[in-house]
Amino acid sequence: MFKLFRMGGLKNRSILWYRQDLRMHDNEALHEAARFGHQVIPVYVFDARIFQGISRFGHPRMHPLRARFIVESVKALRQSWRDMGGDLIVRAGKPEEIIFSLAGEFKTSMVYCNRERTRDEVRVQDKLERNLWSIGQEMRCTRGKMLYYTQDLPFPVPHTPDHFPAFRKELERVIPVRPMLDIPDTTPVPIRPADAGEIPEPEDFRLGLERGLEPLFNGGEKEGIRKLKEYIWSDGGLKRYRAKDNFLNNALFSSSLSPWLAQGCLSPKMVYHEVKSYESIFRPGEASQNLLTELVRRDYCRLITNKYGDRVFQRGGILKKPVPHVRDETYLFNLWKEGRTGVPLVDAAMKALRATGYLPHPLREAVGRFLVSSLKVNWQLGADWFEANLVDYDAASNWVNWLFLAGQMPESGEERAVSLAYLAKKYDPSGHFIRKWLKELDPLPDSKILHPESLSKEEQVKYGFTPGKNYPRPIIPFG
Ligand SMILES: Cc1cc2nc3c(=O)[nH]c(=O)nc-3n(C[C@H](O)[C@H](O)[C@H](O)COP(=O)(O)OP(=O)(O)OC[C@H]3O[C@@H](n4cnc5c(N)ncnc54)[C@H](O)[C@@H]3O)c2cc1C
Repeated sequence: MFKLFRMGGLKNRSILWYRQDLRMHDNEALHEAARFGHQVIPVYVFDARIFQGISRFGHPRMHPLRARFIVESVKALRQSWRDMGGDLIVRAGKPEEIIFSLAGEFKTSMVYCNRERTRDEVRVQDKLERNLWSIGQEMRCTRGKMLYYTQDLPFPVPHTPDHFPAFRKELERVIPVRPMLDIPDTTPVPIRPADAGEIPEPEDFRLGLERGLEPLFNGGEKEGIRKLKEYIWSDGGLKRYRAKDNFLNNALFSSSLSPWLAQGCLSPKMVYHEVKSYESIFRPGEASQNLLTELVRRDYCRLITNKYGDRVFQRGGILKKPVPHVRDETYLFNLWKEGRTGVPLVDAAMKALRATGYLPHPLREAVGRFLVSSLKVNWQLGADWFEANLVDYDAASNWVNWLFLAGQMPESGEERAVSLAYLAKKYDPSGHFIRKWLKELDPLPDSKILHPESLSKEEQVKYGFTPGKNYPRPIIPFG
């Protein structure tokens, strides 16, 4: 910890606009704001366009459990500011208007934020900047979301390699990950409790939080750090990263840190350095190196989004490959999203996604490939549905991963249908996961759990199960 605040008058005040960087540690925007000798006024705005908005494909943009996670994270952040003698101002509305009006009210001279890279977020950022210019104030956007610093990259952002292995090689060979930034001391700006604003409860967004949801994650910086330490150092944790017999236990299959990374409760540098200290004791191994590779992939998704801009969200993707219109697309898509395809692994996964807001990576790939390669449905619908459902939703990671599945990235090659039977046998041999989410299949023996439509007449009587009645027949043949 070090004292960064220099005495100054009102001119040195700035607003720190929190977005998906809900933390005190290793927060570049906070650091910058404090470094210039500013009194920092932290603000978070619940943007109704995101919390209650509807996407262009007609889905709510926010899953109730993501709203819950964000509310918890904002509460934790306010507590951290209160512990330092300050407060977090919380508002609901349009950030470009609210931050602008607070800038006038508190007579600040600057607004700091960590830069977002995707379309909607950049638009809001730009609007706010223009508004601030009209009152002689400025905005500074820092990079604060990635593992690597843009200025350290061995290539200019528009030349980001399209192929991930080449990208990773260039980065890892050439540049070290920088150390974390300390939490700076700032001088609290007196804010009357009434002016600080109330944090809404998740129910206030009326997203249907009550109905059959199973939260897996609690938001907040401290909770994220606790989870990180537990994962890295516990016996079943990093040592067994992505071990296949862990698959059914989401908490242990992989780190499950994505919700905290997505909302910025954890900085990727913190995760990186924790893995490195593990390696300094136990030596680098496949598991720890694989986890670090995924952190690099996260940066890669961000830089690809930056390089290609809006094309990442367009039907033809980066390759501008035509996507044929499929008859019955809406019908097929609805069966997929509601878990009624008659393909048990897909249906169980889609129910789990809706109820928990999370799926382990292999299942994201499996259901995604099933939608685009087997059903031939427009990949954008799948990406949009994931956006509506993931607690760890992150625009760059979601849309770039979907581009891969859809064969719309230079590296992705031909679309491949995944063998669902292979996947289920590998990760879910006794159908444990399928039984949890499709109770109607529970009476069936392991040998029939993947293909309930293949029950003989005698078996149907024995198990009291009629294919097509208790559970749909598969909409397409699958193996
Ligand atoms: C169709 C599809 C959509 C996806 N949408 C998202 C999303 O919206 N948000 C999101 O964070 N991840 C997304 N991913 C990537 C990945 O599935 C999740 O990050 C991962 O499952 C989260 O679990 P974990 O934290 O245990 O990951 P771990 O395997 O423990 O990885 C550690 C961290 O690395 C990052 N990471 C891991 N895999 C990837 C990847 N393939 N691409 C980018 N970053 C990665 C995440 O931040 C993750 O928390 C998507 C993948 C697919 C196939």
